[in-house]
Amino acid sequence: MPSDTGLRSPHGSPMGLMARRMLVWTLAIGCLLGIRVFNARREVRRVALSRAQDSFRKDLAYRLWATQRGGVYVPLDALTPANPSLRDHTNREITSAQGKVYTLVNPAYMVRMVHGLSAAQFGIWSHLTSLNPVRPENSPDAWERAVLQRFESGTREYWDEQTLVGRPHLRYMGPLPVEPGCLLCHVGQGYQVGQVRGGISVAIPLDIDGGFLGGFQGRVFLLALSGLWGLGLLAMWLLARQEQRHTLHRNQALADRQTAERTLRTREALLRTYFDAAPDGIFVTDREGRYLQVNRAAEQMTGYPASELLGMTVQDLDVTQSGGAVPASFQTLLETHTILQEIELRRKDGSSFPVLLRAAKINDDLMIGLCRDLTEQKRLEAERRQLDQEIQHSQQLESLGSLAGGIAHDMNNVLAAVLGLGSVLQVKLAHDPALGRAVETILHAAGRGRDLVKGLTDFARKDLLEPRPLDLNALIKKEAALLHRTTLQRVELVLDLDPELPQVLGDPNALANALMNLCVNALDAMPKGGRLRLLTSHQDRQVQVRVEDTGEGMSPETQKRALEPFFTTKAVGKGTGLGLSMVYGTLKAHGGTIEIRSEPGQGTQIRLTLPALGDSPAEAVAAGVSCPVQPQALRVLLVDDDELVRESVPTMLDLLGHRTETASGGLEALRRLQADLEVDLVILDLNMPGMSGLETLARIRLLRPELPILVATGFREEGLEDALAQHTGITLLLKPFELDHLAAKLREVLG
Ligand code: ADP
Ligand code: MG
Repeated sequence: MPSDTGLRSPHGSPMGLMARRMLVWTLAIGCLLGIRVFNARREVRRVALSRAQDSFRKDLAYRLWATQRGGVYVPLDALTPANPSLRDHTNREITSAQGKVYTLVNPAYMVRMVHGLSAAQFGIWSHLTSLNPVRPENSPDAWERAVLQRFESGTREYWDEQTLVGRPHLRYMGPLPVEPGCLLCHVGQGYQVGQVRGGISVAIPLDIDGGFLGGFQGRVFLLALSGLWGLGLLAMWLLARQEQRHTLHRNQALADRQTAERTLRTREALLRTYFDAAPDGIFVTDREGRYLQVNRAAEQMTGYPASELLGMTVQDLDVTQSGGAVPASFQTLLETHTILQEIELRRKDGSSFPVLLRAAKINDDLMIGLCRDLTEQKRLEAERRQLDQEIQHSQQLESLGSLAGGIAHDMNNVLAAVLGLGSVLQVKLAHDPALGRAVETILHAAGRGRDLVKGLTDFARKDLLEPRPLDLNALIKKEAALLHRTTLQRVELVLDLDPELPQVLGDPNALANALMNLCVNALDAMPKGGRLRLLTSHQDRQVQVRVEDTGEGMSPETQKRALEPFFTTKAVGKGTGLGLSMVYGTLKAHGGTIEIRSEPGQGTQIRLTLPALGDSPAEAVAAGVSCPVQPQALRVLLVDDDELVRESVPTMLDLLGHRTETASGGLEALRRLQADLEVDLVILDLNMPGMSGLETLARIRLLRPELPILVATGFREEGLEDALAQHTGITLLLKPFELDHLAAKLREVLG
């Protein structure tokens, strides 16, 4: 990945590069100029040297010419005065025939004069000098003296560059050998021919720069060079600008790519997070169904780690279609692009579980499948179905209960009349055996009818008759002892009782009855013997009683309907179908529940659950109230809407020696009591149209607070206990009743 510094070119910025290139270019141009100047200078020096040599040689030639001729005579005038050094010369001046005077100009004198002329005319400065000059003005300067000394040691010529009058000059010096003619003047100095006693120095101005750069050629050269330099710089600037644009462009592209890459990476990370955090299992496969990518949920639901899943195919997990090479769902996916389907997947441990598969083709080579584990959902659905069924069942039982209660009420009145009058007849016909037997049969039949109605009443029962704290273990032991005698041979009886079992508030008779019903059913289910277990246990303020047998068990259908009154699978005469419905009613009245667990051939387990007796003061058992009325010859007010009852009960009371007044409803009864009707006792029906029994009761109590009342009912309504508990002197009389039962209740209410 390129870093930030990578955005720049490795040679620095294009502008920096340009500056460096320009410097190099300028140096190159400078070098070119330098070389040119150097060459020009060398040329100038070479020309100057050759001019100096030429000048020297010319001087030498003129001097030699003059020396060989012993000098020349020229007219004596201001231009050429007489040479004072030749004052001793005899023919220094000669006079022509015409009288014109000529003076002798010796070679050195001539050379000096020519030098003066050439300096003035041509700018070539020459100087004839010697270490031992005849005339002091010819003495050498420092440079000349040094060169002359070199000549003495054999040097033939010498030149170098010197600054004269502020300008560079080439100074050249050549030697002057002593000629025979020289001795004319210099003999006094001890010169000999061939000796070098002096020299001529020449100075040529080295006007180098002015000569070269100032010249036309130089100017053209400079112009061309600076043009070239400028063009080079311009080209470099253009190049740099181009490069800079290019670099900018490249950097922009690079930055764009980095941004794109960053965005892509972020998106990838996001996707990866979604992928792994998704609650559904995600499987990506190729066309052959090989897993290419799986998320965490997929690992969790299948129990396979990703490393193993990635080596597997859909065929290995999808067990929806056992046997097939490629599962139907995958085949469908290959053909249709998307599917939504419920399938079964296999876990690593071999178990399978349902999932909702949502799958789609990503492209021709990739598919993606999202699997939602349906295990929990299915469990909840099953639970809800179960609950619904239970609710429906209990509602069904509830409505059956209302029906049964209604029937029981009406049947009770019918039976009350039959039993009541039957029992009266029995007494009256005691002397006639034939009629007495017939009446006995009537009573017997009515008694069976009453048992049936009692079964219905128990089923529909909502309250407890006589609740009190109970030890269920003791109750069970008593029942077991009873069973023991009858079942010893066939069935093994096992008791498994919880020694810590809390008490319950209940009706001992009803509960014993229920228990006996369950045991009888269990025995019926084990005709060939087996084991009957009675267990108690408790948990969370709940007491449980279980009755288990190893009998034939129940089919689901039987199990469902077992609690309904009159449902039986037993032969006619063997079963009434009221047993379990009575147990159900009893348990309901105790605030408990009954639960049946059974499988055909696997035995049956019935669980009764009752609330444990807690701290709540549940002992609301109404105590009987004593009554000061005499036992004999009572005046009874019978209040009942049912004509059958109004006709049968007075007959019964009459037989017992009491007198009866009747009222067909609450209003009538109250009217008669207000009219000071003398009564010792009221028998009051609870279920009456118009003014209800309870309302009538309350009003009677207002009129006669002390009057004993027998409340007659065939059916105990909910809340009846509480309603009756508000009053004193009340005794409950269950319909239908026979003569002795009525007599007992009368005794009870009157103390
Ligand atoms: P009955 O015993 O008169 O048939 P129940 O209400 O007591 O009526 O029982 C209803 C039905 O429930 C029985 O006919 C029987 O089919 C079934 N049942 C009850 N208890 C058991 C049991 N312990 N084992 C098998 N089936 C039973
Ligand atoms: Mg039964």
